Amino acid sequence: MSHKILVLPGDGIGPEIIAEAVKVLDVFRAEGSLNAEFEYAHLGGAGYDAAGHPYPEATRILAKQCNAILLGAVGGPQYDTLPRELRPEKGLLSIRTDLGLFANLRPAILYDELADASTLKNEVVARLDLMIVRELNHGIYFGQPRGIRVLENGERQGYNSATYTESQIERIARVGFETAMQRNKRLCSVDKANVLEVSELWREIVCKVGEEFPEVALSHMYVDNAAMQLVRAPKQFDVIVTSNMFGDILSDEAAMLTGSIGMLPSASLNASAVGMYEPSHGSAPDIAGQGIANPLATILSAAMLLRYSLQLPQLTDRVEAAVKIVLKQGLRTGDIFVAGREKVGTAQMGDAVVAALRMM
Ligand code: NAD
Repeated sequence: MSHKILVLPGDGIGPEIIAEAVKVLDVFRAEGSLNAEFEYAHLGGAGYDAAGHPYPEATRILAKQCNAILLGAVGGPQYDTLPRELRPEKGLLSIRTDLGLFANLRPAILYDELADASTLKNEVVARLDLMIVRELNHGIYFGQPRGIRVLENGERQGYNSATYTESQIERIARVGFETAMQRNKRLCSVDKANVLEVSELWREIVCKVGEEFPEVALSHMYVDNAAMQLVRAPKQFDVIVTSNMFGDILSDEAAMLTGSIGMLPSASLNASAVGMYEPSHGSAPDIAGQGIANPLATILSAAMLLRYSLQLPQLTDRVEAAVKIVLKQGLRTGDIFVAGREKVGTAQMGDAVVAALRMM
């Protein structure tokens, strides 16, 4: 069976970094280990430019038919004055909602070769490898009622609702446990159950789902402590599962442990394992078109696509090994450059990963 991969280059550096990730997937297509077809479409500012909408109908139709989506990034200053509904970010939110992408997986890995890039001491972060599983479709960012109302005394009050149903918790908990099963079998559920009823239910349901995964060591941590532990001793974590807002904050904190945004991939999955894979960074308009962006986060996102949507973990392992090889060879794009290494551009970095893959 041939897999359908929808490629959305997007804006800014998106097309440049996507081209390198596609080169990597093409190695597998050429050797016959990946049977896949690529379709290309527009999202974000590119969608607005081509079809007057950040999530054009043509893209929506293709998105509904594919097994996985590889996205560059969206956004740019030229779109900042558009009405909110037409801005690139709206395209991103729309495709996530449209496909029900409720589980966001964000690894934070510190490669030995990049240990100097972290702001934390080497012994605290060396060999860091953790995964944050964040619920992406519910919780306080979406809960009703919400708004700004006028109280009886005339003062205005802003309010939001942090809501989770049992089934919403159950399905993200299951992703957390399944992810832990593929790694070191340790899952830490982060909540605020000492204060919030929504977290009380969260904890109860996570424990219930845990009964189906006796091999996974489950622990619980309050979010304030988790924020502290992430910088104090991040290597204690294997997989963290948490709600939308807590995950939003903790995943950015974890990303910074590795010191370099150009290295971090992400996956957003729905209930049928259709996923959208994209680097954690944005469209970097300041360096777009110069051929200097780091393509490794996008290449590693393609590696996640192979594991989570196409069930080809052996190919994921090869891409990750190839990335380690090029870093070991001393190749560095500007964002991860340190003196004594070889500075390379986007395409050169992609070519080096391809060459490393072919040697395996
Ligand atoms: P950004 O992540 O695009 O850039 C932040 C800094 O990191 C910049 O200096 C940039 O040059 C650098 N950088 C980012 N990726 C890099 C890479 N691969 N290689 C080398 N350097 C890299 O964040 P920003 O500047 O706040 O946002 C720019 C645009 O991207 C905005 O329009 C924003 O809305 C959008 N954005 C999109 C996404 C997404 O598509 N998922 C995420 C975040 C921001």
